[in-house]
Amino acid sequence: PDLVDTPFYIINQSMARRIYRPRTAFAHKGNFGHALIIAGAYGKTGAAILSTRACLRTGAGLVTAHVPDRSVSILQTAAPEAMVFPDPEADHIATLGYTPELFSATGIGPGIGTGVKTKFFLRGLLEHEALKLVLDADALNIIAGSPGLLNHLPPGSILTPHPREFSRLFGEQDNDFKKMEIAISKSMELNVIIILKGHHTLVALPDGTGFFNITGNAGMAKGGSGDVLTGMLTGLLAQGYSSKEAAIMGVFLHGLAGDLAAGARGMEAMTATDIIENIGSAFQQLL
Ligand code: AMP
Ligand code: MG
Repeated sequence: PDLVDTPFYIINQSMARRIYRPRTAFAHKGNFGHALIIAGAYGKTGAAILSTRACLRTGAGLVTAHVPDRSVSILQTAAPEAMVFPDPEADHIATLGYTPELFSATGIGPGIGTGVKTKFFLRGLLEHEALKLVLDADALNIIAGSPGLLNHLPPGSILTPHPREFSRLFGEQDNDFKKMEIAISKSMELNVIIILKGHHTLVALPDGTGFFNITGNAGMAKGGSGDVLTGMLTGLLAQGYSSKEAAIMGVFLHGLAGDLAAGARGMEAMTATDIIENIGSAFQQLL
């Protein structure tokens, strides 16, 4: 569709409030799902830690991290609340040693690399059509480099490309408006949600609508910020938010947590960990 025909909305606090469902007093962890985070080839264990910790802070009932064998103790130290599936490979994600349908939602991509074993792994995972998936970073780069994969994503999957990942997936565009047009039309064509990240992140839904986020700041323009978003989206999906609800509320809370981090630390000094530490305060603004 032409952008002028596309209904656009702004994601603001009242929209996020309408999506947010506070916990009931008698809730137990079984009510909030079991999230799976697949991330962090060796040397990028930090990406797995950031996604896992963001997922925990977003309220998933249980979180399991699938990381290479060599990263297990690092991850367990940095995120003791999470469980781990150790990949038999020392340094890479290569082995689907579990039934992915047993998890309520799966986030994959941060720091996994694009090696051949990981490619095969992702190809196998994507054959599980019933998964609730968040695809980010190297998962998107693998898909971009594997003709045919893009057309076989589980319906409703959430893709979170930054502009360069977006271009790898869908080709170079002359300008940002063209990018937005492609995001909307590809989201409809592939029946997935495309979150085109940037200063005003666009959430493109398969029904042809677009939602612009207004939270977030340039202090988030540094390594790790996107890994945090992946963990948050996976945590929201695991709890039972629909992919549309998770995408809209997730980008809002992520940007708001970034704004609170910038307020406390300043844009230069804030890190992705500071975004994670402010997820709780961001949620409190939805009460
Ligand atoms: P990534 O490039 O995967 O680490 O993702 C970066 C994250 O930080 C995305 O969620 C972006 O929307 C956010 N971000 C980066 N730079 C800015 C900016 N200048 N303004 C607002 N958000 C930003
Ligand atoms: Mg990223």
